[in-house]
Amino acid sequence: MVYIGAHISISEGYEKAVKQAADIERNTMQFFSRNPRGSSAKALNFNDIKRAENLRKELNFGPLVAHAPYVINLASHKENVWHFAKVVMEEDLERLSTAGVSYMVVHPGNHVGKGIEYGIQRTADCLNEVLTEETDVMVLLEGMAGVGTEVGYTFEQLKEIIEKVDYEEKVGVCLDTCHLYCAGYDIRDNLNDVFEEFDEIIGFGRLKAFHINDSKNPLGSRKDRHENIGDGELGIKTFENILNHPKIIDVSLILETPGKVDVYEKEIKLLRSLIKENK
Ligand code: FE
Ligand code: FE
Ligand code: ZN
Repeated sequence: MVYIGAHISISEGYEKAVKQAADIERNTMQFFSRNPRGSSAKALNFNDIKRAENLRKELNFGPLVAHAPYVINLASHKENVWHFAKVVMEEDLERLSTAGVSYMVVHPGNHVGKGIEYGIQRTADCLNEVLTEETDVMVLLEGMAGVGTEVGYTFEQLKEIIEKVDYEEKVGVCLDTCHLYCAGYDIRDNLNDVFEEFDEIIGFGRLKAFHINDSKNPLGSRKDRHENIGDGELGIKTFENILNHPKIIDVSLILETPGKVDVYEKEIKLLRSLIKENK
């Protein structure tokens, strides 16, 4: 099964979001676990969640994916910043679990000058505080582009974080086509080698979500600016190769391209048209 969806707002509730998604042939979706700037989380409407659950079953809708707010920094050396990240993760994982969300994507963090190794350890320490026996939403570490002091822009770094987490089985990975390319992984001209490397170091079993974005910037640029599908450095062929790759199965493919629902609708049609029949 190929799940395709987009990053959307659920400010009008889960049920409405699932309905809107299905209208444009999406069968997965991503949304912020709370306000992207990290402020208060909205109280849950259990009736809405129940209705959304029923609708998802009816429509054969795939997994729900949440994205942690951008402002939290799991790798921070500042105690208050790190602690805030921990509290947000704990609270949101609990809320998301109640809402039937499968995955929560989080950026591994920024080491802000302390070095990659420090950042890796600090991120793992944070996850070790957050994850418990009861946690049933999988945390997906997003592979980054390597902007500034971002941690987690190589497969090795992601693997190192995972290995330091006690509940390793509750940690997966979310890749992002734009980030991969800008971090130096040539998914345009060498997709098979990149995927083989990923499989060797991390393993496709951990890949649960894949952000599908074209890139405004070239290979290895260490920049992070998303472009609409086909309008950037990656081009349509790259997405055709990814969609039809045998390892891409039961992965939530999520658009995070510029624009609103009308753009997503066009891009999802385009992506679906690229999938070969035997997939
Ligand atoms: Fe992200
Ligand atoms: Fe992303
Ligand atoms: Zn990005």
